[in-house]
Amino acid sequence: MLERTVDRFPNKTFMIVKGQAVTYQTLASEVSRAASRLARLGVKQGDRVCLYLGNRPEFIYLHFGTLKLGAIVVPINVTYRRRELAYIPENSGAKIFVTDDFGWQYFFDAKGELGSVQHTIIVSDKPPPHDSYSYNQLPYQQTTFESVSIKPDDIAAIIYTSGTTGRSKGAMLTHRNFTSNIHDLAQVWKWTSSDRLLLGLPMFHVHGLGVVLHGVVYTGGSLVLMERFDAARALQLISEHRCNVFMGVPTMYSMLLEVEEPLKYDLSHMRLFVSGSAPLPVKVFRNFKEKYGFEIVERYGMTETIMNISNPVEGTRKPGSVGLPLPNVQVKIVDQTGKTAPSKEVGEIMVKGSNVMKGYWNMEDATRETFVDKWFKTGDLGYVDDDGYILITGRKKEMIIISGFKVYPREVEDVLSEHPKVKEAAVIGVSDQLKGERVKAFVVPQPGTPPSEEELIKHCRKILASFKTPSSITIIDTMPRTASGKIIKGALAELTKNSTKP
Ligand code: AMP
Repeated sequence: MLERTVDRFPNKTFMIVKGQAVTYQTLASEVSRAASRLARLGVKQGDRVCLYLGNRPEFIYLHFGTLKLGAIVVPINVTYRRRELAYIPENSGAKIFVTDDFGWQYFFDAKGELGSVQHTIIVSDKPPPHDSYSYNQLPYQQTTFESVSIKPDDIAAIIYTSGTTGRSKGAMLTHRNFTSNIHDLAQVWKWTSSDRLLLGLPMFHVHGLGVVLHGVVYTGGSLVLMERFDAARALQLISEHRCNVFMGVPTMYSMLLEVEEPLKYDLSHMRLFVSGSAPLPVKVFRNFKEKYGFEIVERYGMTETIMNISNPVEGTRKPGSVGLPLPNVQVKIVDQTGKTAPSKEVGEIMVKGSNVMKGYWNMEDATRETFVDKWFKTGDLGYVDDDGYILITGRKKEMIIISGFKVYPREVEDVLSEHPKVKEAAVIGVSDQLKGERVKAFVVPQPGTPPSEEELIKHCRKILASFKTPSSITIIDTMPRTASGKIIKGALAELTKNSTKP
């Protein structure tokens, strides 16, 4: 994909970063250098390379450089802390771990536990810590690095998703998954080489990586790289660089709605705003149309399948609906017994197609449980309306979505329960106007002095990503339980509603 686009548009701008333009030819050279540097450290076909890096050019160079070697990219959410950082490199059996000045401090915290990692690379202008390599100082060969031959079903990336059992699962995405999906998206979103896209999504997530980055490289378009999203800055960049496409999560659209005087920015080139990763409230869709004059195109996807369903660019965009299945994706809704549900009846959304992952890395049981006859069980609930549009109504899985980032209660409950003053913990998602949802915990203390809320939050923050850390914790005497002993989370949600505390 990359090499074909470089041949077509060698001198075209691929990316603008901090005001500097990078052509496709430069991208190709940087990717060759990255591949050559990794090869010198012994990276071979099938090896795993962890990228714990924010949105910076080296992420892109190392991503494609790893793929050139037939090796596997393992992107890691930069907000992940000790627990996740110790787990992902070990579970993926990664040989190389790449980070930068920011990530190094957290990586260092977890370092004792990074089992199979043989080499760490730091992207930084400063001298590297004694047992790591500086990315910039690693030698590379001057000529173009030849890509190794790969097959469509070889794994390109393992992307970790939050797991129901409190342990993340690595979704194995193949070269076929990525290329077939981006082919569909380019068709449905009318994406071409003339498009210039503002990238404000993190590239460690499938939305930023498999949709935005791959989409730009596939079509030969350009991107303007933002290190981290800021609404007013996004509008400024769109205006300055005449961007015409933006893809974001609902929280970003809520933030854009809060910008004062948005029309002072030149948005006249914009043609497409896309939202996904969490439900887009109908109110946000309507207010955005009113304030900015655009109907947001909502789409639905997930780490395991990349994108599945999208509202059309030409045709009706229905507020509250995620749209129609992509060309190479089959979707069906099944009832409790697994039979296809009649139209308009709510059931679990099942997905099949060349976009669906190979399975979870080293988790055969979890893989088996998630497929029925090659249909992937999404764990999301929805129905099909009379026009064939799909509406998502809820989730079968107990997942919480905070600004598009996912957490399962079990992971947070486990961390809280490890605190010596905690006897039991239960976590639920409560609604939040800006973030969609946030994490709320209930704790039954051990006998003796009960822990303070601050103490418990501090404990979680040390171990977990900040979005997983509860925003509030209520101490209670006993957990509400069913006769069989299961915690009644609905009763906890009721407690929240009746309380004056958030
Ligand atoms: P992730 O693996 O982080 O991409 O999360 C995938 C999950 O995000 C899906 O299973 C859904 O629960 C949720 N999701 C993604 N897009 C949407 C959407 N447009 N509306 C509602 N939920 C969504």
